[in-house]
Amino acid sequence: MLISKLPQSGTTIFTVMSALAKASQAINLAQGFPDFPISNQLISEVQQAMLQGMNQYAPMTGLPELRQALSEKIKTCYACSVDAENEITITPGATYAIYSAFATLLQAGDEVIVLEPAYDSYIPNILLHGGIPVCVPLQAPTFQVNWQRVYDAVSDKTKAIIINTPHNPCGSVWSHDDFVQLEQLLDKHPMYVVSDEVYEHITFDAHQHHSVLKYPAIYQKAFVVFSFGKVFHTTGWKLGYCVAPADLSNEFRKIHQYLAFSCNTPMQFAMSRFLAQPQEYLNLPSFFEAKRNLFLKLIADLPFTLHAPSQGTYFQTLGYEQISMENDMDFATRLTKAYGVATIPLSAFYQNKEDNRLIRFCFAKQDSTLQAAAHRLQALKSI
Ligand code: PMP
Ligand code: GLN
Repeated sequence: MLISKLPQSGTTIFTVMSALAKASQAINLAQGFPDFPISNQLISEVQQAMLQGMNQYAPMTGLPELRQALSEKIKTCYACSVDAENEITITPGATYAIYSAFATLLQAGDEVIVLEPAYDSYIPNILLHGGIPVCVPLQAPTFQVNWQRVYDAVSDKTKAIIINTPHNPCGSVWSHDDFVQLEQLLDKHPMYVVSDEVYEHITFDAHQHHSVLKYPAIYQKAFVVFSFGKVFHTTGWKLGYCVAPADLSNEFRKIHQYLAFSCNTPMQFAMSRFLAQPQEYLNLPSFFEAKRNLFLKLIADLPFTLHAPSQGTYFQTLGYEQISMENDMDFATRLTKAYGVATIPLSAFYQNKEDNRLIRFCFAKQDSTLQAAAHRLQALKSI
């Protein structure tokens, strides 16, 4: 008899809501992906790579020219020197890199501190490797880290903490002070860090991304995870990378070599060429800030509660308690079916399915898509 490795898991909320959006012909502001075209130049770089015969296995750790380009990017963005040969591993997406980091780190019974709400793959990944997630709530409505509660969660079994900034789904961004607090925590209680920084280039207003890579005392114990999907609007290409000190990368690669072994060669080549144009990612804050502002303007007279404008990512979380007392899954389902706009209920990001009557909207969409969604939502005013 097959014994489920994940008896508590169903199908991910992103799959569920995207399928419901399709079946209901709803506008999909649920799953996080852009609906606008990607760069033609990036596409032609892939075509050229394929035509030039780059169609066989790439080296296990990633194409050397891509790792070199990333090492230079990291130096420019975070003033951090990482060795392209020994500290960067190209992976088939960030989800895979997070999974592999936990596979590298965890022995049965190890505890991992998870700040909730948390991206939905973290806890199943920890459980699959015999780990025990120890959840610490982020403080609503701004979802700041309460460091005292993090200290309270530490035990002699604590092996790691997973952090995510800019934060999906809350749109909060860690301050320099948060990183200093993390540094102090590691000093008092040595543990590893898995840092999910896939939205590194999407921050708004005065907020800046402070990567773990800027803090050497943290980096020496860290796996820092990035995704090309969020930077170049190519979520369907499933390409990312993990930056970790050589000793940690060495163990990470032992697992990667038996899991995916290597990643898509022409895409890696195209990314290595495209990274030579930093304006592609340096323009992202203003590009997405305009989308956030448009979205907030469009929904300003609707009966949602805006607890805080998104500081980063391409998500905005809103309260709906003025509209309905339904639980968030029922409300998000009804919003999709009856009003034609799909969103993500925040309970999906909690192990115990905590429900604070919040839903997440993705604003990485063409202006016309956001306008059409807001138009449909006008019907909520007459409730
Ligand atoms: N972490 C977070 C916080 C995300 O929102 C996502 C979704 N892109 C991922 C990881 C996964 O990224 P990828 O598609 O590269 O696996
Ligand atoms: N990261 C995306 C989101 O938060 C979805 C990724 C996925 O579908 N697994 O919406």
